[in-house]
Amino acid sequence: MGETVIPLADLRYAAAVPAIPARAILATGLLSDGLGRPLRDLRISVTDRCNFRCSYCMPKEVFDRDYLFLPQTSLLSFEEITRLARLFVAHGVQKIRLTGGEPLLRKGLETLVAMLAELRTPDGTPLDITLTTNGSVLARKAAALKAAGLQRVTVSLDGLDDATFRRMNDVDFPVADVLAGIAAAVAAGLGPIKVNMVVKRGTNAQEILPMARYFRDHFGGRIVLRFIEYMDVGASNGWRMDEVLPSAEVLQMLQAEWPLLPVQAGVAGETAQRWRYGDGGGEIGLISSVTQAFCQDCNRARLSTEGKLFLCLFATRGHDLRTLLRNGTPDADIVSALAAVWAGRDDRYSEQRAARPADAGVAGRRVEMHYIGG
Ligand code: SAM
Repeated sequence: MGETVIPLADLRYAAAVPAIPARAILATGLLSDGLGRPLRDLRISVTDRCNFRCSYCMPKEVFDRDYLFLPQTSLLSFEEITRLARLFVAHGVQKIRLTGGEPLLRKGLETLVAMLAELRTPDGTPLDITLTTNGSVLARKAAALKAAGLQRVTVSLDGLDDATFRRMNDVDFPVADVLAGIAAAVAAGLGPIKVNMVVKRGTNAQEILPMARYFRDHFGGRIVLRFIEYMDVGASNGWRMDEVLPSAEVLQMLQAEWPLLPVQAGVAGETAQRWRYGDGGGEIGLISSVTQAFCQDCNRARLSTEGKLFLCLFATRGHDLRTLLRNGTPDADIVSALAAVWAGRDDRYSEQRAARPADAGVAGRRVEMHYIGG
């Protein structure tokens, strides 16, 4: 029998079209999942493409010239994204983060921002709309994004040493251009701005103190630098526990230089533990998904570039909403389907990882971060 060749783009990740419950479930803004967690935060991946090849996310060896990214027809249009966002908002979402891939590579992203900025929560409040970017084209886009209604940005930057950063992004991109993007975001009034640094032991731990010093000394302490533990997302990055630098060690390094005081969480479900410098030098965050899992408060849903809903960053199965959008399903039925999907959510991958032997695998292929959105 001849071998059947299935194009990679068709394989993607397992997903089923959600069933429409026989009895309508209305949107009350008060969804609760199987572990009692509400739905508040929606992350939308607007492209699976990125111009960086960070080894911990989209390593060059996997995401090379031959890699099949999603075709244009697979992507949700801005109208489709906005329609779904409106239904999620009816269910209680208050915050939308645009991500990817590199979201600023999606053509006309300002138009989507403007469409989302029109949405209101059931009590009439505008959404908190933000974006995570590698900053590579932020200097050009910051003012237009702000004018379209974007409130703030998170910029990823893994070090200040140019050689280290160029090696980590693996496309020889310079630090100076990301810093220019951050400065443009500050000038445009996109704040508060956060900077995310993924810390890999043996790769960029030496950048922790210079990064902390830089963001204390610049921008009047208004930028919050967050240190992220290197995570085992997807199946491409060859993750190893010995490359994770626990946040507790990062904190020790910082405390040896500056006094730091804990800050109360601002809102439930916050990913970072917050600390402030005792001398008024601003604030830092520690995102400890590996060593101190925070699944118990996770109120995030993720919408992939092609319209699959994932209930966890480490999920192996999605829920295909695009089919519902494109087969004429009315809003009320999609609302019911979303409620039923959320009610069945019991994901708590990071907590379970902590309880598993380090070398135990997971059943199914974990979704890649560039596809589901960070
Ligand atoms: N391209 C954008 C960017 O660079 O910010 C948005 C997408 S990126 C997937 C979102 C965030 O995920 C970035 O801050 C990135 O550093 C982080 N990230 C990606 N892979 C990671 C991993 N294995 N562990 C921890 N953080 C990771």
